[in-house]
This record gives sequence, C-alpha cells and structure tokens, in this order.
Amino acid sequence: MDGATRTAGDEMADRPPNILICSCEDTMPLDGSAVGRGCRGAEVLTARQLCRAELEKFRAAAAGGEPLIVGCTQEAPLFSEVAGSADVTYANIRETAGWSKDAHAAGPKMAALLAAAAEPAPEVPFVSLNSEGVILIYGRDEQAIEAGNLLKDHLDVTVMITPPAGVAPPRVTDFPVVKGSIRLAKGYLGAFELTVDGYALPVPSSRGALNFAAARDGAVSRCDLVLDISGGACSRHEISLAASTSRATSPSPTISAPTRARKSSAARAASTSAQPVRSHRPAITL
Ligand code: SF4
Repeated sequence: MDGATRTAGDEMADRPPNILICSCEDTMPLDGSAVGRGCRGAEVLTARQLCRAELEKFRAAAAGGEPLIVGCTQEAPLFSEVAGSADVTYANIRETAGWSKDAHAAGPKMAALLAAAAEPAPEVPFVSLNSEGVILIYGRDEQAIEAGNLLKDHLDVTVMITPPAGVAPPRVTDFPVVKGSIRLAKGYLGAFELTVDGYALPVPSSRGALNFAAARDGAVSRCDLVLDISGGACSRHEISLAASTSRATSPSPTISAPTRARKSSAARAASTSAQPVRSHRPAITL
C-alpha cells in the first residue's frame, strides 16, 4: 500500500495490537464496537478495574507478544512495571473522552485516541543547550543573598544587588555579592551576556552595611543562568532560547542544565587569586 494513503487503521491492520480499555470502575461508558471499528484489526478487550482486580487480564495480554494499547495513562507506571519488555502504549481515553458530558457518544473519539497512540512519533531534531551552572542572581535586597545561600551548594553563584544595595555584609563570603544595574541582557541558557552599569565590588572592611568601591559602567557579565528577583525589568532584554524564533521545521531546543559541583574554597581562591572576591564567574569585566 502507498504510504501516503495509509491510515492509523491500516497500520493496525498490518500489525494488529490488542487494545485494553477500562471503564474506571464504571465511571464511564465503553463502546467496544466503536473502538473496534475505528481500530481495524485490533482485538478489543474491556475491563472495569484493570489496574487492581483485573490486573491479571493486563498481565495475560502483555504476555501475548502482540503490541498492546491500554486506554489508561494514570496507571501507566504500574502497567509498565508488570509488562516488563512487552510493547505497551498508553492513551488517555478517560479525561479526554469518557469523563466528558458527551461520554455516551465518545466511542469514536476513544477509537481515534487509541489509534493515534499506535502511530510512531515523528523524529524530532534537537539542539542542545548546555549550562555549566554559573548563575547570576539579580535582586534588590537580602532576598537575593538568601537565594544565593539556597543555591550555593548546587550552582556557582554570584549575587548582584541593585543600587543602593543596602544589605548587611555576609559573615562568610561564600559567593560574591556585588552592586550593579543590568542595562542590557542578551543570550540564551548557557550563554547569557549582561551589560551592567554602576558595577561595584564590596570592600572587605564593610561593617554594618556593605560598602562598595567606586562604581563603573559598562561591565560585562557572562553566565549560564540568570535569576531575576529584582521585581523590575532590565532596561533592555534580548534573551531568547536559541531556536525559539526559528521556523517550525527548525530543530527544537533541548535544555541541558546540569548543576555544577561547587568548587572547594581552595579551588575558588586559586582561580580568583587576582580578584578581591573568590569567584571568577560570572566574569564581570570592565
Ligand atoms: S485508573 Fe485506569 S486502569 Fe485503573 S480503574 Fe481507572 S481506568 Fe481502569
């Protein structure tokens, strides 16, 4: 048969699956005939409580060696565990059909959902986005530092506080706390670039409140992730996922954002020996 004229029913006729549909304890009507007509070649079995009292019915069907479609997604983990290596696909015919106000006429829709589940998913190209876990937390008060404390064991944190940055000095400098305003943000996950005005490092002798050295404009920060809890928009954003504005046929982005093992204090100190604070990333350059 010409592939262009094939239908889901034809596919099933070539490789007839078993179909198991369940009334979920009689909370929805099942029209086995409609399902059988819509899924040509398939053997349709019905159940009332497939995931509990009739689990053996599922086990037997899965052991038959034929592809199996189950009309329940809620209990898919249980069924997959019982099925082992059997070829089982799941379709939600409950919330999407049987539990509707038109449940008594939902047989053809159930058939369509089950037939669609038998169709192989098309190949989708991917674009990988990688993050090494360098995060800039942008805030206006101690909340940003609190967020940094929550994330510091998982990510390489830098906190930037918007001026005037009236925050208390940390007891221990676990991560850099700097002052600045993001003027421009562009990039995407794994490759953000921020232009910062009023950028200033704290002086180590800060007492009572953080004091900062002279501020400068035009500093550049490069980081993998930005957590903006400042409550206001940056002056200008040019942030996007790499493929989000591409044509529909363009590869879809996948996001890979592994957390990064926090550097030991010694390693951080070594990598930033020329810096007044211990972290060298996000790299903020003047
Ligand atoms: S959860 Fe799924 S398998 Fe269990 S009774 Fe309801 S429809 Fe049937």
